Amino acid sequence: MNLILEFDDFNPHPEVDCLAEIKAFVRVFPEIKLTMFTPALYKDTPLYSNPTWCDEVRKLIKSDNLRLAVHGCYHTNEEFKNIDYQDAIRTIVRAESIFRVAALPFIRCFRGPHWGINQSTYNALKWLDYTHVYTHEDYKELADANQDVTNVIYDWNLSGLYIPPRKKDVFGFSDGFQVIVGHGHTHNVCGNGIQESSARIDDFIRTYTPKFNFADEI
Ligand SMILES: [Zn+2]
Repeated sequence: MNLILEFDDFNPHPEVDCLAEIKAFVRVFPEIKLTMFTPALYKDTPLYSNPTWCDEVRKLIKSDNLRLAVHGCYHTNEEFKNIDYQDAIRTIVRAESIFRVAALPFIRCFRGPHWGINQSTYNALKWLDYTHVYTHEDYKELADANQDVTNVIYDWNLSGLYIPPRKKDVFGFSDGFQVIVGHGHTHNVCGNGIQESSARIDDFIRTYTPKFNFADEI
C-alpha cells in the first residue's frame, strides 16, 4: 500500500504555518513524504515574506520529505469557481511568480481554495502544463470531462479513522497496488488539522507500514 498525505493552506502566515508539525513527523518517520497545498499569498502574506521559513521549507524539499503544490494565489473564497479563462491564467501565473521569488519549487498539481474550480480553470491549468487536479466529489462531473489531467479525490478525510474498503484485505495488496490519499489542513479546521490528526496518521503508518508518495506520484 502507498500513502499520499496532503494538507491545505501551507504558508508562513502564523495561522496556517505547520513547519513544526512537519519536522516532528520527519523525526519519527524519516521516509515520510508530505504534500502541502500552498496559497502563494495568504491574508496578504506572500511566501517570500519570511526568508528563514523559506530556508527551512527548502531543506525539507531537498531531503525529499516535502513538496509544495499550488492552492491558488490569494485564497479568497472559492477563488477559481467563477473565474474566466484570462483571469485564471493571470492568477495562477501570479501565484507561480511568488513561488519563484521565494525560490521555492512547486509541483504542477493544483487545488482551488474551498475546492472551487470551473472549466476555465481546467483550461488554464492545461495551458500551464499542470498534471494533477485534486478535487472533490461535488466537482466529479467536471473531473470526468477533463480526463487529460489526473483528477484525484481523497480516500481518507484525516478527521476520522481510516476505514478500509469492504471485503478487501488491504494487508494483502502488493506494493503500489493501492494508493490511499489522506486529506487534511495545515491548521486545526474541519477536524482534520495536521496537529489534531497526528495520532491517527501515526497509527495508520504503524498499522499498514505504507510506502510514501507525493501528490504528483499517482
Ligand atoms: Zn484552503
